[in-house]
Amino acid sequence: MKKKRKIQLARHAGFCFGVRRALKIAENSLTRKKPTVFCWGELIHNACVVQDLEKKGLRVVKDLKAIPRCGHLIIRSHGAAPEVFNAAKKRGINIIDATCPFVRKAQAIARDFYQKNYQVVIVGDKQHPEIIGIRANTKNTAIVVSGEKEAAQIKNFPRIGLLIQTTGKIELLKEVAAKLLEKTKNLTVANTICLNSFFKKEEIKEMAKDVNILLVIGDRKSNNTKKLAEVGLSYGIKTYRIESAAEIQNAWLKGKTKIGLTAGASTPDVLIKQVEEKIKFF
Ligand code: SF4
Repeated sequence: MKKKRKIQLARHAGFCFGVRRALKIAENSLTRKKPTVFCWGELIHNACVVQDLEKKGLRVVKDLKAIPRCGHLIIRSHGAAPEVFNAAKKRGINIIDATCPFVRKAQAIARDFYQKNYQVVIVGDKQHPEIIGIRANTKNTAIVVSGEKEAAQIKNFPRIGLLIQTTGKIELLKEVAAKLLEKTKNLTVANTICLNSFFKKEEIKEMAKDVNILLVIGDRKSNNTKKLAEVGLSYGIKTYRIESAAEIQNAWLKGKTKIGLTAGASTPDVLIKQVEEKIKFF
């Protein structure tokens, strides 16, 4: 007889507070200010959602020159450099700020460290828009490291202020902090990991005790989806990263009775539901 399959869906799977908020802001702006609503990069890392917003009139831009005077520019949840805000204002563009409050807090902490003459160090991905925006708040003086190996290359400083990308891992922050204690006598650490990212990772830790495999749903461009998959692997769970139910392979599920399911912060509920349905009837 075929064994019943148990699906464990993480409570915080999918859209986070910051993404929901940014989407609501975009939808409202499109209703009221159409057809002049632009977005500074893709609103969220999900192709379906971005295409849907484009159909409703949202235009993604990477250059302020593409926006007419009196146009409306949404700053997405990742935030942007102060220079973007200033240049947009100078061009007569109206800013609709959807920066996530967790990101705004990280920017304020970085700025405060910088103003107090700390060498700012950020744990994160140098190319990620959130990090580019946070770093810009230190007049681009902050050093960005991906982990303790890069932290070991930093020279000594009288004082260091350390923070981390909002989607980072607490273990990574601790490792880098330990390394930086060899570089300074005055280290101040700010845990800037957002609650949603923290809970998502804790849920994987819990699931690791029970499930046979873990499916992480999210766009290939989504950094936090990538991080969730890394967390699954770090706990020794066979982990697969997928964008949709269509990518699930029969061989992954064969003989597996306990499947863990989670999804990145930009993954809509409908995609999670489709994956759940597909696994149920496999
Ligand atoms: S992952 Fe966290 S910091 Fe990023 S948008 Fe969502 S709630 Fe905000």
